[in-house]
Amino acid sequence: MIILRKLIELVALCFILLTLTNVQGQIIKVTLLGTGTPLPVMERFGPSILIEAGEQKFLFDAGRGSLQRLMQINVKYREIQGVFFTHLHSDHVVGFPDLWLTGWLTGQRETPLLVWGPEGTKRMVSNLEKAFEFDIKFRISDDKASPNGVVIKAKDIKEGVVYEKDGVKITAFEVDHAPVKPAFGYRIDYAGRSVVLSGDTRRSENLIRYSKGVDLLIHEVASPDALARLKRPVERDKAIIAHHTTPEQAAEIFSLVKPKMAVYSHIVPSTATEQDIIPLTRKNYTGAVELGEDLMVIEVGEKIEIRRPVAKTNQNTLK
Ligand SMILES: [Zn+2]
Ligand SMILES: [Zn+2]
Repeated sequence: MIILRKLIELVALCFILLTLTNVQGQIIKVTLLGTGTPLPVMERFGPSILIEAGEQKFLFDAGRGSLQRLMQINVKYREIQGVFFTHLHSDHVVGFPDLWLTGWLTGQRETPLLVWGPEGTKRMVSNLEKAFEFDIKFRISDDKASPNGVVIKAKDIKEGVVYEKDGVKITAFEVDHAPVKPAFGYRIDYAGRSVVLSGDTRRSENLIRYSKGVDLLIHEVASPDALARLKRPVERDKAIIAHHTTPEQAAEIFSLVKPKMAVYSHIVPSTATEQDIIPLTRKNYTGAVELGEDLMVIEVGEKIEIRRPVAKTNQNTLK
């Protein structure tokens, strides 16, 4: 009898533990695939962020090298349900044809890709389909690639909830990247966790409104000091700074939003160092803030855990 009771107690304990780990195990996993800008440097690839929530995987922007970065972390293109574009500046979309076509050909994708973005997204996608029509035809007839796997279902979106399925909710909100309009930031909600991605923006009241109390805020940043070191025409630098957010401005935003964790990505210019950005942020912000790097992983769960890549990000991963 005692043995039986002990056994029942043990089973009950296992059940409670399993339920607890199940709830606590629900996280949003964020991987910064590319933290750079148009500058073609090896250390910071083009802007692209992988979000994994439950079984679902999405990319936000597809800058230069997004497919290579996915391969480095062993995530297959065929596992990506869709791509959300923040705006259509080339640094955010230039990796897309490679992701889409090479991913399809080498990764045996057999299902359509969903794409969301501001007005102009559908048109860009249909123009890409025309531009690569020659290749697509031969890959299907000659290489026997799946005709379904190259299909893109693109949608031009407006501010509001743009996706909701199996507990994952994605909301687009307008940011201020004028004259580039519309430009979106995105908020991802899953299992009581939340992540906001700023996209490209100067200080935006709308972003502050949509981000209030978020667990993780990933914000862009531009360093006037690092731009000056590139010795380009001053007027050009001024225009760049006016389209983006300086570390001091970001500190104000973080103070208002009060995220559990703030991480910089889309570092303008890509050569800016931690010294250019973090001390200026610290002047007016005492909360947790980190400078993002390619392949950095941020797990948003009960706690927020950050893992930086051990090896150099430009290493060859082919075994
Ligand atoms: Zn950009
Ligand atoms: Zn931009």
